[in-house]
Amino acid sequence: MSSPLAREWVGIQQFPATTQSKLHELLGKLKEENMSTLTILVMGKGGVGKSSTVNSILGERVATVSAFQSEGLRPMMCSRSRAGFTLNIIDTPGLIEGGYINEQALEITKRFLLNKTIDVLLYVDRLDTFRVDSLDRQVIKAITNTFGKGIWRRSLLVLTHGQLSPPDGLNYDDFFVKRSEALLKYIHLGARMKKEFEESTIPVVLVENSGRCKTNDSGEKILPDGTPWIPNLMKQITVVISNGSKPILVDQKLIDGPNPNNRGKLFIPLILAFQYFFVVKRIQRAIKEDDAKESKPLWELRDMGLADRKF
Ligand code: GDP
Ligand code: MG
Repeated sequence: MSSPLAREWVGIQQFPATTQSKLHELLGKLKEENMSTLTILVMGKGGVGKSSTVNSILGERVATVSAFQSEGLRPMMCSRSRAGFTLNIIDTPGLIEGGYINEQALEITKRFLLNKTIDVLLYVDRLDTFRVDSLDRQVIKAITNTFGKGIWRRSLLVLTHGQLSPPDGLNYDDFFVKRSEALLKYIHLGARMKKEFEESTIPVVLVENSGRCKTNDSGEKILPDGTPWIPNLMKQITVVISNGSKPILVDQKLIDGPNPNNRGKLFIPLILAFQYFFVVKRIQRAIKEDDAKESKPLWELRDMGLADRKF
């Protein structure tokens, strides 16, 4: 899927020299592993910082950032090339509207992704929210139903607003662990993961898109613990794509999903047989027994030739 139309990744030059050399090193490693393209899909609810994260990674303003939820319905792919390597980042609309999955946005996103290969999914949410609720589960379910459970083996949980000061004097690390655990639990539930799958952990990576993000001496944007987050995020992405799982090819079959008309068709004869033997037969037997017990009215006996016809 290397895109011949990819523009040169000039945004990388916006980063401090240290970040640039770390990114070049990572791209070099991927090339050594015979990868010449990396396609990152960014999904999550609206307003969580998906578009901002896309812009931060690229060092360019390619995606529209909005403080209000007017993201539109269209996904957007931005391709950039650097030293023979193509980086594709796909920004998607928030999938929730009025408390439910926006089916139209989901449909448009699916069609947009057709025939693309997803190397990694960034499932974005905010660090500074406290609740995990049915909306989260709905988005996670929609992602699972669209791409299959396997997508979660190729995913990272990205938490924006990483520079937060936890409320009520809570310790930052404790807060981070609690928030991550709550979301990961919902991912496990929403993706209906089995035990062995649960053990393969989804990495959680912090991001701070704010222009007021602290920097270190080299000018790199850092998290409260001093980690420069852009190279860290890219590093974690390379770890995930080297974990032995397969990239997700979005083909028609995947998009159509299991045909709801065929689902369970195999069981129909079984259900009919069950009904016949256990329901119909039983009722018939009961009727027969009832009939046998019942004293027949004379007219019926007459019809059966048992009564005196003259009567
Ligand atoms: P999207 O709807 O998920 O694409 O979210 P946007 O990227 O449009 O961001 C929604 C709002 O949150 C915008 O006002 C952003 O400036 C802000 N925002 C996004 N990420 C961060 C972050 O890491 N820190 C802070 N402080 N604000 C952020
Ligand atoms: Mg957006």
